[in-house]
Amino acid sequence: MNLPKEIESFNERIRNAINGNHRPERRIWVTSLSYCLRKTALDIYLNAYSPSRNWEARIGSALHGWLADVVGSAEFEVPVEYQIRDGWKLVGKAEAVKGPYVLEFKFKGFEGNGEGIPRKNYDLEHAEPSREWVEQINAYMGMLGKEKGYIYIFDRNGLDFRVFPVEFDETLFRRFLRRAERVIEAVEELESGKFPRWISTVGRKDWVCNRCPYRPICAEIDREELKVR
Ligand code: SF4
Repeated sequence: MNLPKEIESFNERIRNAINGNHRPERRIWVTSLSYCLRKTALDIYLNAYSPSRNWEARIGSALHGWLADVVGSAEFEVPVEYQIRDGWKLVGKAEAVKGPYVLEFKFKGFEGNGEGIPRKNYDLEHAEPSREWVEQINAYMGMLGKEKGYIYIFDRNGLDFRVFPVEFDETLFRRFLRRAERVIEAVEELESGKFPRWISTVGRKDWVCNRCPYRPICAEIDREELKVR
């Protein structure tokens, strides 16, 4: 019997599952590629990744919900997927898509003009999108085939906002995909019993390590400075 190719590939997956060869497609979250690739690889290997549920993320979700109610005329929380290679997908959720534009909403508390506080944290007037926000919206644009996006920064105190346009940058997107490839290689090393020492934080940030559950492992393997004294 001649079957359509979609049905044939479906059948192939069923046969593989019956023969014990099935391996579920694995996902790498866009937001996990901006901080520590080693942590991302360990999370995938241990099946431990869950998108951020810290208090800031919760406030963000509540405010997104409010925005969706009051503005309405865009698609909110749009799931995004991109095949990296067989068995591996890059996934994420664009906060909103309005026609040809991807929108990201960031709700920020400002600390005022004090000693040691970066200018971008003084107030909304000095605010600017972080490197992570730009590379993430750029990734969503690349995955959705869009050319332009806007990052909205809201002042959590009063909800005044500013808008920052972002043009799609193909080179930045390719670089982002290469991070995903490095994570895949690291997961494959973990699966073969090796620890991928070579994979590390993006921009090496102490705060990322300080909050990380794998800190004792890295402290033991190659980060003496992370040992709790
Ligand atoms: S401790 Fe630091 S280097 Fe090690 S996995 Fe965590 S964030 Fe990455």
